[in-house]
Amino acid sequence: MPISPRTFHVVTCDVCGNDDMDDLIPLHDSPAEAAASARHIGWLITADHMVICRATDEEHRTAVDALLPPAPRFEVEGQLSLHLDSTT
Ligand SMILES: [Zn+2]
Repeated sequence: MPISPRTFHVVTCDVCGNDDMDDLIPLHDSPAEAAASARHIGWLITADHMVICRATDEEHRTAVDALLPPAPRFEVEGQLSLHLDSTT
């Protein structure tokens, strides 16, 4: 029986450090395949390659919230600002 080395890729969560070895197909031939598999099982991978698994604890929710744009500023309760230029 021949024995040969293989290279494979796994995705690791930036928040908790868990990898995708326990989910579906753990061995991936390329980083792109690993990322696609992780997205398929519900992991979040940002454009700058930050990875957040699908855990829903406070630490993971905080990491996802940090990716969101800031909440809109209300000048009047319940109404968004029109962003009018006040110099004209
Ligand atoms: Zn995680």
